[in-house]
Amino acid sequence: MNKQLVIALGGNALGNTPDEQKEAVSAAARHIVQLVKDGYRIVIVHGNGPQVGMINLAFELAYKENANVSVMPFAECCAMSQGYIGFHLQNALQNTFLEQGMATHVSAAITQVIVKQDDPAFQEPTKPVGLFYSEEEANAIAKERGYTFIEDSGRGFRRVVPSPEPVDIKEKGTIRCLMENGDVVIACGGGGIPVYCKDGLLHSVDAVIDKDKAAAKLADVIDADSFIVLTAVPRVAIHFGKPEQKWLERISIAEAKQYSKEGHFAPGSMLPKIEAAIKFVEAGNGRKAIITSLENAYNAVVKDQGTIIG
Ligand code: ADP
Ligand code: MG
Repeated sequence: MNKQLVIALGGNALGNTPDEQKEAVSAAARHIVQLVKDGYRIVIVHGNGPQVGMINLAFELAYKENANVSVMPFAECCAMSQGYIGFHLQNALQNTFLEQGMATHVSAAITQVIVKQDDPAFQEPTKPVGLFYSEEEANAIAKERGYTFIEDSGRGFRRVVPSPEPVDIKEKGTIRCLMENGDVVIACGGGGIPVYCKDGLLHSVDAVIDKDKAAAKLADVIDADSFIVLTAVPRVAIHFGKPEQKWLERISIAEAKQYSKEGHFAPGSMLPKIEAAIKFVEAGNGRKAIITSLENAYNAVVKDQGTIIG
């Protein structure tokens, strides 16, 4: 049986413009193709923070200028980012396979991730998105559209959306099928489009699901062998950024929990990756999670470099 990997790819590593992004995905493609050659089956979950922000901003500005453009809901912006980033990744990977005479295909799946309508996150939106507004503007928009705004570190008022927990992946069967067919699959981009179930139907909601949490959930529901997080650092550290910093090679679940409790991992960046890794490893037998950099991806999977959790 081919080993199955779910790879979470950081959105900040994708650059800020379409050209930068094209270059970044080519680099990612080269590393991922090596794993495919070794027989691994792969699903890629990419981030979308800067990209969905850009799409949302473009619509907000156009709407503000009274152009003939309507307000674009955040869930739709997420769907657009899945298309935009998914296309670039798909194109770069496919061209790399073609160059190397490989018959592998690449599929990008628009993915809906199910959240609970009564997730407590909906009571307390935390994730800032879009433009900064003055207090008056923010109040007017809040009244017109029902958005929640917060004052963001003295820079103005900014909309916040909830960040609920992923519960299930609607397209998991399709993703598994494509993967078993030998395709490299791109799915759950940006954490997936958040939907909740009501009266038996799915409804989209303006929220942002953490992409590392969504990737770990996907790895769990398709029962992948390993969950790989590719980010900007080759390993996870304790005392990160301090003189006594120590890179970690392999940690048990108990150690990962202890270090988390001791505050070694930053809440907005490394902590969600560690928490996602713990969840995935705990929910099955013989599972492994790895956190490393893109450059180190192949060696981390094949030669146990990077930080291994589990
Ligand atoms: P991504 O776009 O891949 O999600 P993030 O910036 O959200 O990337 O998270 C990765 C970053 O977390 C690293 O580049 C590093 O600066 C930071 N970080 C915080 N705590 C740690 C830690 N204990 N060990 C390693 N990196 C850490
Ligand atoms: Mg991140």
